Amino acid sequence: MADITTDVLIIGTGPAGSATAALLSSYGVGNMVVNRYRWLANTPRAHITNQRAMEVLRDLGPEVEAEAYMHATDQDLMGENVFCESLAGEEIGRMKSWGKSPEMRAEHQRSSPCRMNDLPQTFMEPILFKTACSRGTQARMSTEYLAHDQDADGATPPCRDRLTGKTFTFRSQFLVGADGGNSLVAEHAGLPFEGRMGVGGSMNILFRADLSRYVAHRPSVLYWVMQPGADVGGIGMGLVRMVRTWDEWLIVWGYDINQPAPVVDEAMATQVARQLVGDPDLKIDLISANTWTVNNCYATRMQAGRVFIMGDAAHRHPPSNGLGSNTSIQDGFNLAWKLAAVVKGQAGLGLLDSYTAERAPVAKQIVTRANQSIAEFGPIFEALGMDGGVDHEKIRRSMAARADSGEAAERQREAIRKAIEFKKYEFDCHGVEMNQRYRSGAVVTDGQPEPAFAKDPELHAQFTTWPGARLPHVWVFDRQGRQHSTLDLCGRGQFTLLTGIGGEGWVEAAASVGAELGLPIRTHVIGPRRDWEDYVGDWARASEIRDSGCLLVRPDHHVAWRAFAAAQDPAAELRRVLTTILAR
Ligand SMILES: Cc1cc2nc3c(=O)[nH]c(=O)nc-3n(C[C@H](O)[C@H](O)[C@H](O)COP(=O)(O)OP(=O)(O)OC[C@H]3O[C@@H](n4cnc5c(N)ncnc54)[C@H](O)[C@@H]3O)c2cc1C
Repeated sequence: MADITTDVLIIGTGPAGSATAALLSSYGVGNMVVNRYRWLANTPRAHITNQRAMEVLRDLGPEVEAEAYMHATDQDLMGENVFCESLAGEEIGRMKSWGKSPEMRAEHQRSSPCRMNDLPQTFMEPILFKTACSRGTQARMSTEYLAHDQDADGATPPCRDRLTGKTFTFRSQFLVGADGGNSLVAEHAGLPFEGRMGVGGSMNILFRADLSRYVAHRPSVLYWVMQPGADVGGIGMGLVRMVRTWDEWLIVWGYDINQPAPVVDEAMATQVARQLVGDPDLKIDLISANTWTVNNCYATRMQAGRVFIMGDAAHRHPPSNGLGSNTSIQDGFNLAWKLAAVVKGQAGLGLLDSYTAERAPVAKQIVTRANQSIAEFGPIFEALGMDGGVDHEKIRRSMAARADSGEAAERQREAIRKAIEFKKYEFDCHGVEMNQRYRSGAVVTDGQPEPAFAKDPELHAQFTTWPGARLPHVWVFDRQGRQHSTLDLCGRGQFTLLTGIGGEGWVEAAASVGAELGLPIRTHVIGPRRDWEDYVGDWARASEIRDSGCLLVRPDHHVAWRAFAAAQDPAAELRRVLTTILAR
């Protein structure tokens, strides 16, 4: 007999667990979260918050999105990505990153109603966790997940109350392992992984020091430092990472994974900080230091019966490209509506199979991308003549050589420029952040082939209403002329049908089929004198359907299905599509 019962039990209050709890509570589904610690993240690991993750926060409500921006460093201060000898030393070069170049800024603005920003995990987690608890999530801190059994109806995980030492048992219809890179839930569920853990050694040194004189004129979140040892372990080079402008910093520095992890005491932390900042007298106020390993590992299945994994539990990779917390939050956005539909009796269990089909390819993609980004520092080292170890003498020689007047120096300057520009695959990789297209049983084809990407799909966000893709964002206008994103018309736990003039049959069909299936479907008509005006014509250009056609959009903004034009029997069409998606 279980001590506590709930619909969905989530292990972990990190970005994945807290986001999922907040979404489930917003959808009116009973859920609990547990965390073995008594509080949330105590170190600011994730910062880069991409537009797609912000769209999830926006879906949770304008106040949630606004609070994130309030605490975040603005995108304008993120993008002068500097490569240097040290903060005080000579600059090797820089690249405009995170949507800072005029071209990429335009692409960001076209892509989403939300802005990329830099929000430390120590701020993100409380926002998500508070949203969850204030909307109904029951949270138990100092509670450690130990194991689980599952049967046809649910999971029974025993947990330990770390305050009393007593073990008690939960019973839930579903169990979600959002328990991070050493996930016990994944292990106990026997989920398969590919890749390797522990491919590199890294340390974090978090400290306070006013470094504004070195950085405020070239505002960035990341300062990459070429110093002896910069090519050993770590994430590509030495990194001085802004946490709060410009007096709180995180240094990421590597160590040889084949050696025991170093003990990072105050003396070592100070020495590394002085070396990377380039100030032998720098005084730091050390907040914390710890070591961690670079992983290259992803789950190929994220579900075992009624047990799911998400976030770092499923994708374990270095912070390169800033994809970890973002993808964790997006995993939650994918799974939460599906769990809600099953718990509410609107969908069959088969809907949940789409979670692995849709998110495991994303896990593989981001783990591969992040690890590749570390290797792609190689050309910068090579251009500076640093292959085969970095020492001060070599750095001095090649920094001097590139300033010569001869042809060799010109070639070297070009090689450095190209090597730095190539790092856009880490620091301006907008396509990886935005272009997810799903293929699964929760998407019904309209018979059209998948449109090819016109530009590099890793670098550039490109949108389509092809079923499986995320609905394109454009601005449409309400009766008072105020602009709203097409994404704002959708989401919040519901299916939405978008149509235009001549699509009234779809609206009636959505009402009747929705009533039949017990599934409320929101409808919007876009066109002159209808619910929403398309004054600028962006919707007409983006929708890829005729006015009389329709788009059926899932609660996570992905297009479930589309009809190019009006149908003979719209109710029959919608019934066919929805019963397929919902596994009814
Ligand atoms: C230096 C660094 C910089 C980074 N920068 C970025 C960035 O810029 N952008 C980005 O998106 N990502 C970044 N990341 C990655 C990001 O921190 C992770 O991807 C993210 O924290 C994963 O979230 P999660 O919720 O899956 O797991 P976690 O945040 O690891 O949370 C796991 C949760 O599970 C709990 N838990 C674990 N085991 C148990 C148990 N047995 N019982 C109960 N509770 C348990 C933990 O206490 C915790 O609450 C960075 C990481 C590092 C190290």
